[in-house]
Amino acid sequence: MITGDAAYIKKINRSLIIKEIVKAGMISRADISKVTDLTRATISAQVADLLDEGLIIETQLEHFSVGRKPIMLSLNSHAGYALGIDLDYGQISFTLSDLLGHPVTSTIIKINTTDYAEILHILVEQIKKYKAEYTDSHYGIVGIVIAIHGLVGKDEVVHFVPRLGWEDIHLKTDLENEIDIDVYLENNANLSSFAERVFFHHETDNLLCATLYSGIGMGMMMKNDFFRGHDGFAGEIGHMIVVPEGRPCNCGNKGCWEKYASESSIFEYLSEKRQMKNLSYEDIQKWLDEGDQEVHEQLEQLLYYLSVGLNNMINIYNPDVLVLDSELLRMYPDALDKIKRNLHSSISHYRELSISSIGKKSCVLGACALAIKHFLGVPMLNLPFEQQENETVS
Ligand SMILES: [Zn+2]
Repeated sequence: MITGDAAYIKKINRSLIIKEIVKAGMISRADISKVTDLTRATISAQVADLLDEGLIIETQLEHFSVGRKPIMLSLNSHAGYALGIDLDYGQISFTLSDLLGHPVTSTIIKINTTDYAEILHILVEQIKKYKAEYTDSHYGIVGIVIAIHGLVGKDEVVHFVPRLGWEDIHLKTDLENEIDIDVYLENNANLSSFAERVFFHHETDNLLCATLYSGIGMGMMMKNDFFRGHDGFAGEIGHMIVVPEGRPCNCGNKGCWEKYASESSIFEYLSEKRQMKNLSYEDIQKWLDEGDQEVHEQLEQLLYYLSVGLNNMINIYNPDVLVLDSELLRMYPDALDKIKRNLHSSISHYRELSISSIGKKSCVLGACALAIKHFLGVPMLNLPFEQQENETVS
């Protein structure tokens, strides 16, 4: 008979073994024993279970010069699929990934409503479609994580989404009543920081990620977990005042950071100044290529105010790795060096400052990765980054 303690230890060992298999990509039983300090007998028993469940597969290595060809273990990446959803204003992005976080297919649905019932209906329909399509794999869809551009409490209730005008919405419960799959809700900036940790910055346990798109969001990973604050609302850094009595913000204050350093601040300014409604990144790239002085000045100003706020963030949090998620920074020459030159305080300490290599998709890929983490029951994931999928827009 397995006692409570034995069952718990079995679960912990299982999690350790899965974690090492995912981290290594391919690993032998003997090497798992070396890195985990678990006995060969424990590993054999657990591995036999995982093989039975179809969660891992064995591969015999060819071309092995001396001795026995080792049998390697790896995750069966197509045993199931994770569904990440980015619920943004104006559009919902769906990405389905395999169990190693590789995107398999993506769909973007444009929406012209903020009505909760209508959006819930779209979500349910789309999820049911994916579920029916991927029912053939061993586990089907193993979990759904939805990125919310607003405040999600520790209770996973959506407390406030400014652009959708939603307050106290029970989206998780409403979805789980309709669909027989686990649903998790998470703030979009948290998911971007999670993606940075899972796909790129494997060696840190202290990572801050600032997303600079519509406003400024901050996600933070500390010791394999999100830093959430008391209610789960930590990271609303965009409303830190950087210019006293400055530009009015819809939060009720003046001079908030995101009115000066977010991409939307530049887009709003230029589209008003140049009387162009739907300004795109391509327009800004074109102006930069042409040497447009006003656009250059605007971006220099953004870099300046970005550095002001980053200096504050670094002093508050002392992060190890700080990632900036912004398409404009990716296209503006020397953006990173210019920011670093502005961060010259002898007090501010960080090890690495970088611009996201994932870009706008970080939030939806972080959502897939979080669903995988929940399914595998591991404390953290280290996954390779690969971006290949078919995308449809409707
Ligand atoms: Zn504000």
